[in-house]
Amino acid sequence: MHVGDIAIGGDEFVVMAGPCAVESERQVLDTAESVARAGARILRGGAYKPRSSPYSFQGLGVEGLKILSKARDVTGLAIITEVMSETDVDVVAEYADIMQVGARSMENFSLLERLGTCGRPVLLKRGMTATLEDLLRSAQFIAASGNPDVILCERGIRTFETATRNTFDVAAVPVLKTVCHLPVIVDPSHAAGVRALVPVLARAGVVVGADGLLVEVHPQPEMAASDGEQSLTFAQFDSMMLDLEPYLSLRPTADRLYAAAGGLD
Ligand code: PEP
Ligand code: MN
Repeated sequence: MHVGDIAIGGDEFVVMAGPCAVESERQVLDTAESVARAGARILRGGAYKPRSSPYSFQGLGVEGLKILSKARDVTGLAIITEVMSETDVDVVAEYADIMQVGARSMENFSLLERLGTCGRPVLLKRGMTATLEDLLRSAQFIAASGNPDVILCERGIRTFETATRNTFDVAAVPVLKTVCHLPVIVDPSHAAGVRALVPVLARAGVVVGADGLLVEVHPQPEMAASDGEQSLTFAQFDSMMLDLEPYLSLRPTADRLYAAAGGLD
């Protein structure tokens, strides 16, 4: 799948990084420059934020999209940002290179259908209580509506375990890679919920065959409007990228995954 000159789902391991939410131009430009230097190809940042409380910061909306677009002009990074509502699809598609569907929207079928004609690739996050079959059915809604360019994202699921924010389902990656042809990326930030665990989960994603990462990075995580506890500092992101390097050569191809699994029904 191609996003500009970036191929996702091929040989390259594609890193998408940036803040949970777009808060200001300075925050986004500084982050974009830093993550680009460290090797990220795609800038993330939510302009429309799904929050568990109506009293939390809800995002900057169109102003946030414009900030992301400026960061693309300055750094050359492609942009991924979340779309929460059918009514925002056109405006988000005007600014974004990849449309993100959040975990809470994975079963918003009218949004998925509308994304079938948005003209952009879609990154579909696994819902918190969704099986892999549920995730694939949601991907089919987008494809059947006209858009085959869907990237799947494992971001942790809700279980009885409370030590992490969500439970990272590491097996999701080889299962999805063997049963369908879509790229699969992992989001260690929302899986872990704490920054200390993000690099090790990222490494696990690499060695089980993920096609890339979606990672939260913030210039001052303690000041972040959302998800500060799981956001990496610039220095932590730099060292995570360096630490991942030796593992990239261990990334199994889909063929090797399939052979190792002995084939999945
Ligand atoms: C996000 O990427 O900031 C986000 C809200 O993620 P999720 O939909 O996985 O909770
Ligand atoms: Mn977040």
